[in-house]
Amino acid sequence: MKINILTIFPEMFAPLRESMLGRAEEKGILEFNIVDIREFTTNKHKRVDDTPYGGGAGMVMQVQPILDAYRGSDMGGQVIYMSPRGEILSQEIAEELSGLDEITILCGHYEGVDQRVLDLLDAREISIGDYVLTGGELPAMVLIDTVARFIEGVLASEESAMEESVYSGLLEYPHYSKPREIEGLEVPEVLTSGNHGEIDLWRFEKAVELTAERRPEMLEKYVKSGREFSKRERMILEKNTR
Ligand code: SAM
Repeated sequence: MKINILTIFPEMFAPLRESMLGRAEEKGILEFNIVDIREFTTNKHKRVDDTPYGGGAGMVMQVQPILDAYRGSDMGGQVIYMSPRGEILSQEIAEELSGLDEITILCGHYEGVDQRVLDLLDAREISIGDYVLTGGELPAMVLIDTVARFIEGVLASEESAMEESVYSGLLEYPHYSKPREIEGLEVPEVLTSGNHGEIDLWRFEKAVELTAERRPEMLEKYVKSGREFSKRERMILEKNTR
């Protein structure tokens, strides 16, 4: 997947070159094309923003530098504008975007971008949550990271984006690793029993309990999803949905 990024802070994207995303780029699964909008401004002081028509606080990113950066940098695919007024990012949106060959992400600053940029590029607005950040770079990285997890070859072979919290319909059960005991806290016995049927059921129970406690609406949806449950799973669900 080719991911184009329009930003006034290209150096903020250094984390994309680390860890799993960095390896995915080395393997050619992801390609990042990060472009500094400021390099395309025709303003002699290198400005990319101006005051808003109609007055009010703050500055607005102008059409010219953004459009010229987009058109002059081999960009295409679905254009996404990171914006607090967009649809809220979800696993479903991430999975949907992961099926595209190319996307272009526009990162705003100040009060945001001139509406005509969004109209001309037919941009889809996506928010990472109901809070406001100073710029679109961190939201863009959140989007890229979660989209990348759905692309084949990005995660290690034994991992699956489908088994994680939220996607599976439940929050994930707790994890434990060595040592077996630390500061008086022991690993739950069932996990060392070697009985995989019991381990799966224990994990299911913990996932259901956590979801009931933290996200009861998610558990309700899970129960009504039409999935098939064993007798013991049904008992666990009934105990936690009463
Ligand atoms: N005036 C804008 C509003 O009220 O909708 C907020 C602008 S914000 C200070 C500057 C930029 O940060 C936005 O253009 C957007 O690109 C990015 N941004 C801030 N919060 C965001 C969020 N929750 N999700 C996605 N992008 C966000």
